Amino acid sequence: MLASTAKSGGPAAGGQRNIGPMLLLLAVIAIAPPAAALPSPAAPRAAGLMDVRVDGRAAPLPARMARRARQTHSITVAIPASAPAIGLPPVAGPDNPDRPLIMIDAGHGGHDPGAVNATHGWREKDVTLSIARAIRTALLRTGRFRVALTRNEDAYLILQERYDLARRLGADLFLSVHADAAANPDARGASIYTLSEVASDREAARLAARENRADILNGVNLSGQSSAVSNILIDLTQRDTMGRSSQFARILEREGASLIPFQKPAHRFASLIVLKSPDTPSVLLETGYISNDEDGGLIRSAAGQRRIADGVVRAITVYFARASAD
Ligand code: ZN
Repeated sequence: MLASTAKSGGPAAGGQRNIGPMLLLLAVIAIAPPAAALPSPAAPRAAGLMDVRVDGRAAPLPARMARRARQTHSITVAIPASAPAIGLPPVAGPDNPDRPLIMIDAGHGGHDPGAVNATHGWREKDVTLSIARAIRTALLRTGRFRVALTRNEDAYLILQERYDLARRLGADLFLSVHADAAANPDARGASIYTLSEVASDREAARLAARENRADILNGVNLSGQSSAVSNILIDLTQRDTMGRSSQFARILEREGASLIPFQKPAHRFASLIVLKSPDTPSVLLETGYISNDEDGGLIRSAAGQRRIADGVVRAITVYFARASAD
C-alpha cells in the first residue's frame, strides 16, 4: 500500500504562507479491485477509479496521482479544500497575549466515540472532554496561562482542524487528550506520545493506526485505510518543534509521575496526524485504558481527572519556566 500526503500549497496574499483557511482534506482514491473499497457517497465513475468530491464538487485526480493509483491498490492524497475554516474557540484566562496559550484537545467527539469499554459502555469522547475541562480549570486557577479547547461539546472535528485551531490562535503548546484501549482487558497505564515517522514499538504503531482512523472525509470512513493515513512524512521544519514536544513529554513524565499512573517507559513515538503541526509543540496524552475497568473508572472519576489535570499543570508550569529562562 502506498501513501502520500501532499501539502496545501497556495501562498496567501502578500506571499505569506497561510494554510489556516486551506484545510487539508484527505481523500482516498481506491482502484478496483478491491470490490469493497469505500462506502457511498462516492460511487465508482470510470472503471476502477473512485470519484472524489470536495465541497460537493468533483475533484479531478491529478494525472501523476492517477498513474500511481493505477499502479497500486490504493493511494491517499491531500486535497486543499475551499471550505471555510471553522470558527475559533474562545480563549480563557489573563487578558495578556504574553501569557502562554495552551490548547487542550479533547480527542474524538460527535459521531466518533473513540474507544469504548464494552462492559460499561464508557466512551472515550466523553472522558476526554471531562479531562480537557479539568485541565483547563486547573490551568486557569494558576492565573498564569491562557487556555482554549478545540471542542467544548460533543462535536466532531477532523484531525487537521484540531491542530489548525492551535496554529490560528498562536498556541504555545498543544495537548491532545485520549484514552487507550486494548484487546487485553488487563492492559493499564497512561502514556505520552510525540510525533515520529517511525513508531517506537508495535503498540505505538497500533495506537497511531487507531487514533488516525478518526478522520472521515465527507462521510467516507477512512478506517479501512488507516495504515496509509498513518504513514506521515515529516518536514525538516518540524524538527525543532519535535524537539520541544519531546522536552515537554519528558517533563510531563517526570512531574506528573506522582499523580498519573504512567507505563514504563511512558514516552513513546508514533506518526499521529493530530500532532503534525509544524510549529506548535504537540503532545498526545493517553490518560489510561478505558478498556480496563479500574483505569476507566479512574479517568472517569472527578478525583482521577483532577489528579491528571494537576500533573499536567505541574509539567506545563515547569516547561514554560524553562522556556522563559532560556
Ligand atoms: Zn483516542
